[in-house]
This record gives sequence, structure tokens and C-alpha cells, in this order.
Amino acid sequence: MIRHASLLLAGLVIACGPAYDIPSAPGGSGSSLTALQPAAAGPVRSYSAARADWNRVAPRIEAVSETFCREENPGRPANYCDFEIRLAEDPDAPPNAFQTIGRDGRPLVVMTSSLLADTRNADEIAFVLAHETGHHIAGHIARQQTNVALGALILGTLAQAAGGGGEGLASQAADLGAFAGQRVYSQTFELEADTVGAYIAARAGYDPARGAMMFARMPVSSGPQSLWSTHPPSNRRLATVMSAAEDIRRQQAAGQTPRPRR
Ligand SMILES: [Zn+2]
Repeated sequence: MIRHASLLLAGLVIACGPAYDIPSAPGGSGSSLTALQPAAAGPVRSYSAARADWNRVAPRIEAVSETFCREENPGRPANYCDFEIRLAEDPDAPPNAFQTIGRDGRPLVVMTSSLLADTRNADEIAFVLAHETGHHIAGHIARQQTNVALGALILGTLAQAAGGGGEGLASQAADLGAFAGQRVYSQTFELEADTVGAYIAARAGYDPARGAMMFARMPVSSGPQSLWSTHPPSNRRLATVMSAAEDIRRQQAAGQTPRPRR
């Protein structure tokens, strides 16, 4: 009986996705947040420059996320790791990015154009997208649902709204943004997504520590449904990414493909 129960538990853990070690901050909880911000962020760019970066970054993060997702989740259905990354070009949508499951069952990551406009460089776009695909790879929706019954209701609404495409996309995305603003993951899940996202961004050729400044810097246009309302800046988050970046360099120096620890 005990044996059956433990098998059942093991099955649940596998079904929910892998859990990763969150690297501890080097040298304490980090005093580097404010010190690193101004130099690393760079100036505000034109939207067309940010859009050009998007065209290069999004396909690379999508491809690396899919490869990494399949490595980490063997035995899943084919579409489990078939990411779709969309830009919602609706100026009225709040600056936000989020991850959900589309009606077709594929994992969907959406960034709004107002958030893209707030990015300062390609590393920031890469890190935000990798953080969001990291939530999926670590199975956070499923793992949250086991704890929070309300999550199912919000998720159902999101999945229904996310299934469409084409001309209704912009207004749908605005609605999604409103709903996504209500989904607040635990700090543990955010740190885990930061960790996984750091490895994905690095494997795609971007600098995760520089990219994480996006979360550390309050934007001009933040609001109640912005990325920063669901992802409060903290020294712990930045220190986690810096620590992951050190581990990534160590693994690369040893000739390994960087992989977060489980
Ligand atoms: Zn997050």
C-alpha cells in the first residue's frame, strides 16, 4: 500500500515537470542590484530597433527552449515542447509577458509591444522570453494547480482565449494580459524560472545577467497589470541569475552544454 502510494506520488511529480535547484546567492543576498543597473541597461531604443531585435531573438529562444524542453521532459507528447512565441502589438495592452497553454495544447508565450518598447537590448528580450518558457519547462501551471484550485479557473479562461489567432489576436492578448496579471506565482517558482531561463538565454547566445536587468529596473510605464506587478524586483532574483551565470561559465569552460541542476 505504501509502495503504491509512493509510486502514485512519483507519477504526479513526473507529470508536473522537473524541479530545479535554485543557486544560492554568492556573497549573501546581494548588494549589486542598484550598482549594476545604469551601466548594464543602456539607453531606450526606438520601437523599430526593438522590433528588429525581436525578429532575431524570438526564433532563437523558441528553438533553444524546444530543444531544452525535450531534453528535460522525455516521454511527453510531441506538442508539449512545441512552443509558440507571439508578440501582441496592441499599444493599449499593459507592458507584460506571460506563459500559458493554447487551445491546441501547445505552450504559448506572449510579450506585449509595450513591454518590448521598454526593453533596452536583445539580452533583455531573450531573458524575459526564456524566463517565461522556463515556467512551462518546470511545469509551473500544473504544479501551481495542485496547490491552488482557483488556478484552474483562471487557466481555463486563458486557454480558451489563447486558442485563436489572426485579426483578433491583439484584443485577445490585452484580455490575456489582464488575466495574466492576476496569476502570481510563488517566489520559489519565479526564482526557478529565473534559473532555468538563465541557461536557456545563455545557450541561445545571450547574456542572462545583463538580460535580468529587465526585471530589476522599474519601467516608465508600469501599472497594476504590468510585468513588475507579477514579478517584483528583488536583490534575490538578480543574485540568483548572477549565480546561475557563474555556473553556466563553469560548465562551458568544462566543455559541457550548460544545464541547470535538479
Ligand atoms: Zn515569472
